[in-house]
Amino acid sequence: MGQRSGRQEGSKEPEVALSETMEAEMEVQNNEEEIEEVKAKNQKLTSVFGVADLKNEAVGLYNLGQTCCLNSLLQVFLMNIRFTRILRRITVPSSPTQRRNNVPYQMLLLLEKMQCDKRKAVHPTDLAYCLSEHRMKLFVQYDAAQLFLTLWNLLKKQMKKPELVEELSDLYMICIQEHLACQKCSFQKKINSTMLTLPLPVLDANSHRLKTLEECLQYFFLPEELTGQNMCFCQQCGRKTPFLQSMKLVHLPQTLTLHLKRFCFERSSHMHKLSHSLPFPQELDFREVLTENQWQADDSEKATWQYELFAVVAHSGSTSCGHYCAYIRSLTECKWYCFNDSEVCQVSWDDVKCTYGRSNLNWRETAYLLFYMKKHPQ
Ligand code: ZN
Repeated sequence: MGQRSGRQEGSKEPEVALSETMEAEMEVQNNEEEIEEVKAKNQKLTSVFGVADLKNEAVGLYNLGQTCCLNSLLQVFLMNIRFTRILRRITVPSSPTQRRNNVPYQMLLLLEKMQCDKRKAVHPTDLAYCLSEHRMKLFVQYDAAQLFLTLWNLLKKQMKKPELVEELSDLYMICIQEHLACQKCSFQKKINSTMLTLPLPVLDANSHRLKTLEECLQYFFLPEELTGQNMCFCQQCGRKTPFLQSMKLVHLPQTLTLHLKRFCFERSSHMHKLSHSLPFPQELDFREVLTENQWQADDSEKATWQYELFAVVAHSGSTSCGHYCAYIRSLTECKWYCFNDSEVCQVSWDDVKCTYGRSNLNWRETAYLLFYMKKHPQ
């Protein structure tokens, strides 16, 4: 390293140094100060996050006004040590404006604050401000599935290092192969796609309630006939024809996100919530849930399809006036916690099971997003 870096490390009082500098040197000095600040921050972050996994304590986040959804999702991200391992390796943006507007960096600062302050809760103000710079309105209740996608896209877009973007994708992305077969001729089409969540219907085509999470998954992967308005253009027939659409599972990520589609517009113009009971297991093995024609994967891939429940984002209240909280199993302590904004308490599996839902209690808590983690990653 050159002289510049040597001097920066030695200098402890950049403000004093600045006041003693001649005006002509101001700009250079400002840059140096900035670099120094970033360097100091980098060093601090390294020292803090080097031990982050060991003291992954549960710290709350204050509600800034309708931020319960954001708070719940932030807790799910930050309690996932596989995610924070990626987050710790981001490049700190060089200018103050960039740092203020960089979502991964602000998330990292928030994590640092949560782990250092020894307080029961912290204010996610800077991160909320940063998100508002990216067209995310504040003081508005969000749909957790939608906000999860928004946050993830911002993280991916702003993590500059390609290897981190790849690791982030590996951590969360589900690979699916969609098969489309014309029902009038032999034409077939296969489309590979990736998804951040599996959006699982909780009702079948006849509006009957699906009874378990496993049933929802099986239903999601059932072939569907695309007829009437849903017909597709067949290039062989030269017209719109009925198609058979089926989804095959190709790859499952380390952290798997399942979205229970409990909010629906069916049979009415206004949105309503489906609150019926839908049990989900603590352990989920996809090889037992799906059948051979519902996957397109080799044995080594399928061997990793055993999951353990990591987190539940639950919604209570009505569609127009609701509240979110997160139940998360600490990966270091193997204990369940309920993160309800600034209130964090240890809970039992029976408490988590209360989010299965009950049809006669619409306002009660119901699981909305489920996060599973691979038991034996490759
Ligand atoms: Zn055809």
